[in-house]
Amino acid sequence: MTDLTTFIAGLPKAELHVHHVGSASPRIVAALAARHPDSAVPTDPEALADYFVFRDFAHFIEVYLSVVDLVRDADDVRLLTYEIARDMARQNIRYAELTVTPYSSTRRGIPDVAFVEAIEDARKAAESELGTVLRWCFDIPGEAGLEAAEETTRIACDLGAAGLVSFGLGGPEIGVPRPQFKPYFDRAIAAGLHSVPHAGETTGPETIWDALTELRAERVGHGTSATRDPRLLAHLAERRIPLEVCPTSNIATRAVATLDEHPLREMVEAGVLVTINSDDPPMFGTDLNTEYAVAARLLDLDAAGVAALAKNAVEASFLDPEGKARLAAEIDAYTAVAGR
Ligand SMILES: [Zn+2]
Repeated sequence: MTDLTTFIAGLPKAELHVHHVGSASPRIVAALAARHPDSAVPTDPEALADYFVFRDFAHFIEVYLSVVDLVRDADDVRLLTYEIARDMARQNIRYAELTVTPYSSTRRGIPDVAFVEAIEDARKAAESELGTVLRWCFDIPGEAGLEAAEETTRIACDLGAAGLVSFGLGGPEIGVPRPQFKPYFDRAIAAGLHSVPHAGETTGPETIWDALTELRAERVGHGTSATRDPRLLAHLAERRIPLEVCPTSNIATRAVATLDEHPLREMVEAGVLVTINSDDPPMFGTDLNTEYAVAARLLDLDAAGVAALAKNAVEASFLDPEGKARLAAEIDAYTAVAGR
């Protein structure tokens, strides 16, 4: 049979937890930095690799924000978005829900309408030229507080971004309690958006409970600490609330000490619907194919097992039923041939 790495590379995949600016590969960051020479971010891809070595979660946020600072006009946004889709297409990612933080751009002076137009242009071009379908999760950068929450909610609910499917909450969790964002999630949910906050990445299971009860999370970003609370694990399994697991990210941010200590297996054994994701792939020196290989090792999976994980992502996605059926059939057809 095909070796597992080759099988994973060719496997049609969906990704549900991956950030817009956090997907800027050294190639893309170098192009953006060259457009803005006053930035502290190196323009040389090799120096960039060193720049992306993080001491801890706070340092990661600091570096991340310096890359955010490179996205200054609608052309930067369009370039970034389309080039991310190109990197995805190369990995056979057929569908991605990309977490976008409009507030980071509007506070830098990019008009909200121009921002939405830029990502929508890139989305349409990516779908027709690269075959990768993008949808958006607009997320509140938690560290920016309620002003950012208000602005994000307004852009999500009022500007009619055609690719928008969900509403999120990112940034640091420590010192940023989830319940304060309830009114904003209520408005987004009333406007027809799905709730997908980050929770339990760097804090305990009580944050995940808050995300479920206060923010009505339909999926949970990370949920790493869920395994510390058996009642929570059982609840997630029973309600079929998926976790967006990002193994390498958890190591890079020191949320989990080592891959061998990652709770992925425990989640699966508890019957939780897990999906495998890359979070901020170039910043963590990874990509979705690598994350599937990591998951295969942690869970002792063969090709059929990896294909089942890929189908979890389809099931947990906000694709319409026809889109889900089509992508699941693509995975099955590929596995029938390449997975023997
Ligand atoms: Zn994330």
